[in-house]
Amino acid sequence: MSNYLYPLASLAQIQKSPSREDGIPEDLELKLKQVRLAHPEQSLPSPPSSDSGSSSPKQDSEESYFLRSLKECLAIYEEPSRPRSESLALLSDEEVIMLANNGNIATYALEKLFGMDQLERAVRIRRAILSRASSTGTLESSSIPYENYDYSRVLGACCENVVGYIPIPLGVAGPLTVDGKQYPIPMATAEGTLVASTSRGCKALNAGGGVSTVLVGDGMTRGPAIDFPSAIQAGKAKAWIDSNEGHAALREAFESMSRFAKLKSLKTAIAGRTLYVRFATTTGDAMGMNMISKGTEKALEAMQKRFPEMVVLALSGNYCTDKKPAAINWIEGRGKSVVAEAVIPGHVVKTVLKTTVRDLCNLNVKKNLMGSAMAGSIGGFNAHAANILTAIFLATGQDPAQNVESSMCMTLMEPTGLNGEDLLVSVTMPCIEVGTVGGGTVLAPQQGVLDMLGVRGAHPQHPGQNAQTLARIIASAVLAGELSLLSALAAGHLIKAHMAHNRSQVNTPAASVPVTPGAGFASRA
Ligand code: ADP
Repeated sequence: MSNYLYPLASLAQIQKSPSREDGIPEDLELKLKQVRLAHPEQSLPSPPSSDSGSSSPKQDSEESYFLRSLKECLAIYEEPSRPRSESLALLSDEEVIMLANNGNIATYALEKLFGMDQLERAVRIRRAILSRASSTGTLESSSIPYENYDYSRVLGACCENVVGYIPIPLGVAGPLTVDGKQYPIPMATAEGTLVASTSRGCKALNAGGGVSTVLVGDGMTRGPAIDFPSAIQAGKAKAWIDSNEGHAALREAFESMSRFAKLKSLKTAIAGRTLYVRFATTTGDAMGMNMISKGTEKALEAMQKRFPEMVVLALSGNYCTDKKPAAINWIEGRGKSVVAEAVIPGHVVKTVLKTTVRDLCNLNVKKNLMGSAMAGSIGGFNAHAANILTAIFLATGQDPAQNVESSMCMTLMEPTGLNGEDLLVSVTMPCIEVGTVGGGTVLAPQQGVLDMLGVRGAHPQHPGQNAQTLARIIASAVLAGELSLLSALAAGHLIKAHMAHNRSQVNTPAASVPVTPGAGFASRA
């Protein structure tokens, strides 16, 4: 960053700086001198004359002192001999806002114009512009934080029109033993009792020796919609894709895009004259939507050569199916398909979970299986898989919208061991869509969480293993959550626990805050 930059960086900051008797902040005058030396050609604002006779209040005189005319600011901004970022550094925030409000600067392009070393300033100025244009005018001075954030990782990758960031409390449940290794379970959530409840489930699972997982599938999917002039022609294309020749041609084109993408299957379906093709591929440690989209595009180009009459309506024809409820995901799987299983000794069910194997199994059948069947659910045969999964998604930089299909889960419980006194419990989750490279995993705090789990970035020896391990951890944590909530329901603890742990003391009138602590932990579902 140039040493003369930000002569008038923040009006608010400068107004707070120590002033001399003449009312001119000392550090400001120093900075102005530096700018004058560096850019003698610039017409910089002069200090207000003490004998000007102006009767305007101090605030007014400071405003006019800091703000040059629109014409002057434009001349500085559009000076052709300098890069735009340097010109902007010569203008105060208020002057930049004036140019933006006058239509000379696009608010969405502030970061591009300011350059990499002034990203936070771009965010601060956008907040001011949007705030002042809004009916409430609160954004600029709101408690939405924006300082001390690495916006270089956000730019062009994670978010546009950035005005700050939203912190979410991060708790840790567990540790939980998964496949013989202990993991802390990171959960970003604002739902009281969720972490505590999951922790209780971890305790019970650990007491039985921990969770064992099996990965039964790994394949991200994309399903374009392709129009043909007639159903006959669509049928011919379908037959070609289903043939060895067609499959091989599409595979070759698809896999040319990435060394991580290995085409696993092609599923075709026709509706009228429209053909749908569901590409399924491994994607290494990436969740894989970008990767598979590029591969699908290549495959369709190859197909177009053979079927020039076809029209690709959309790369995603909802046959994927991404971020929408769909039976195809539940049946075929999407992302990582994981089963997590454990045995809980009967005495642990009694002492830690405060219920019995018999009550748990009965409730699981009546609620998670029969209740969901009565409701016509697809993949919702669980108590609150989405609660645990989404909290871990947020903590580890996953795409939270994919919780729609990723949370599909069937929870099963049955008595096991001598006289059926122990509990065999499992969750079956066919669509855990996670990655440890790309997307929100590039952000530093999320990377810190992935580091804590030992699964950040690309696996050095076995591409894909980090993402698969994360999916196994998530399924295991869901198992802990299921166990704890079902137990709380079976024992009738739910209402009491919520009253004690999940009522905001801040917004709740004192008289209505319960004083009796709950007997156990639970979470709403
Ligand atoms: P997504 O496909 O999930 O949207 P990105 O496209 O943002 O993810 O990130 C994937 C990128 O990371 C690809 O360009 C890929 O080449 C690169 N990459 C590096 N190592 C790996 C790995 N082990 N697995 C998957 N992708 C990897």
